[in-house]
Parts: sequence; C-alpha cells; structure tokens
Amino acid sequence: MTETTPLPGAGRAAALRDEAREIAERLEREHGVRPRLVVVVATEDESTAWYVRSITRAADRAGIACDTVRLPADAEPAAIRKELAGLSADPAVHGVILQTPLPPGASAAELAGAIAPEKDVDGANPLSLGRLAAGLPAFAPATAEAVVSLLDAHGIELSGRGVAVVGRSTVVGKPLAHLLLDRDATVTVCHSRTADLAAATRTADIVVAAAGRAGLITADHVAPGAVVMDVGTNPTEDGGLIGDVDAESVNGTAAALSPVPGGVGPVTTALLLRHTALAALRAVTADR
Ligand code: NAP
Repeated sequence: MTETTPLPGAGRAAALRDEAREIAERLEREHGVRPRLVVVVATEDESTAWYVRSITRAADRAGIACDTVRLPADAEPAAIRKELAGLSADPAVHGVILQTPLPPGASAAELAGAIAPEKDVDGANPLSLGRLAAGLPAFAPATAEAVVSLLDAHGIELSGRGVAVVGRSTVVGKPLAHLLLDRDATVTVCHSRTADLAAATRTADIVVAAAGRAGLITADHVAPGAVVMDVGTNPTEDGGLIGDVDAESVNGTAAALSPVPGGVGPVTTALLLRHTALAALRAVTADR
C-alpha cells in the first residue's frame, strides 16, 4: 500500500504572511499607514473566540493591526449593520470581517451587505460573490481561495481535472466552484440532497470536503490516486479539531490529503491578512 502524502498548509501560509508583511512595511515606511483589520463578533462561542485569537496573533506577525469589536450575543441585526457601516466608512480601517455564528434571526449574507466591497476581505458581501461569479475582480472568501492556494502550493494541476466539492455554502462551496471553473477544472458540487454522494465523488480527480460532518468522506468516496482536500473543522470532545475526512480510511487510497488541523486553516488566516494588506495598498494608491 502506498501511503497517502500529507498536504500541509504551513509553508504556503508563511509565504502569504511574508507577502502581507512586505506590503505592510512598505505602506508604513512610505505613507505612515498601517493596514488595519477589524473583526466584528456577536457571540460567546468558544471556537469563534479561539479563531479570532489566532487571526490576531497571525496579524501581529504580519505587521497588520487587528482589532476586535465585541457586540452582545443578543445584538439586534440593526446594531450589527450600523457597526459594519461605521467601519466601512472609517478611513483608518482597511478590512472588515463579520464572524459567525450570529445572534438568532440575524442573516450573515444580509448583514455582510453593509461591508464596503473594497474592505470585504473575507468575500462575505453578496456583491463580492456576484463579482466572483461574473469573473470580475473581488475578494474571494478566504477559505475557498485557500483550497486553490494550497493545491497550487503543492503543484497539483487543476486545468482539465474533475473536482467534486462537497458543500454548497456561500462561504466555501459556491465561491470555490467559481474559483475552480476559472482555473478550467470540471466541477461537480454536492450537498446533503445529493442522491449518491460516493458515486459523485468517486469519479473525481480531486475531492474537496466542506460539509462540516466529521468522518463523512471515507475510502468509498475516493478514487484510487485522487487528491483530497479537507476543509471541515469539527470540534472534538477533548477540545481538538477533526476534519470531514476519515483520514485512516482514505490512507492508501487517496494520493494526498490535506490535514486538519494544519492544512486549509492556516492558509485561510494568512489570506485574510494578505487581502487586508492589499485593501490598504489600494486605499492608499486611490488617495494619491
Ligand atoms: P455550512 O454552511 O453548514 O454548509 C455545509 C454544506 O455541506 C451544505 O451545503 C450542506 O448541504 C452540505 N452537507 C452537509 N451534510 C452533508 C452530507 N451528509 N452530504 C453531503 N453534503 C452535506 O458549512 P460551511 O460554513 O460551508 O463550512 C463547512 C465546513 O468548513 C465546516 O466544518 C466549517 O467549520 C469549515 N470551515 C473551515 C474553515 C477553515 O478555515 N478551515 C473556514 C470556514 C469553514 P445543504 O446545502 O443541502 O444543507
């Protein structure tokens, strides 16, 4: 049995952070501007708090300022929208992220419409998704872009390959389908109503699991020699994290597998920082 090759994200994440840092240092040196990212949180959720801490740490390493705006877990949608609109209008802020989960009754897609597209560094504003679908410049959701970035980092060809994406959310599955089409892949998007998931994924050269279901993808779902990208992050009882792919099951069948943690996740965070640095660069250039 040939062992499955791991596809770690640390190397690509470090390179992306270095790019962000170079832009940040140049902006500070030449214009006295430090790129600033603001994360808006309206939840007490512990895994969200963990994620925000990891963004803040990574931002610090990339020379990017990162602030968190904390709203109550029962904040009204109007209050969240007002906060996002205020940050969008603030010239000292270059990137804005709205963290989920949100208070009951609040729609992430609806609220993200209040984030100015040029500061929408996680591609959450529906306008960004529309522009992406139309092949126009826009920030893609960082997780979707991270999948493509990690495949590129490991030299995995996309043009002409069959890719099955499991999940059709607006943050991962749908934008990823557009990014893959732009790279000339032949894309199949699967979801919870797909009649025979294993049949749909087994014919793919590359399987991307983004369902949020621990252990959903087993050897039955994977063609021998296929590449498997695991986007899922499912908390375990002992405080750890596991993906959507049963790594033990696919070992020896998949040619390569991105690990959880340590695969798509760190690349996602690094892309948010790179997007923020680019947003700041564009803001400064537009002002001149
Ligand atoms: P989501 O909004 O809950 O969407 C999940 C998608 O998976 C839906 O389209 C759903 O189908 C589909 N699905 C669920 N169960 C399925 C099944 N048994 N068979 C086939 N499809 C199934 O989740 P999300 O926000 O896209 O996130 C997906 C995963 O990625 C989660 O684990 C999340 O934590 C993780 N994530 C990771 C990062 C990162 O940086 N690594 C970032 C964001 C998200 P329906 O549409 O039919 O319901």
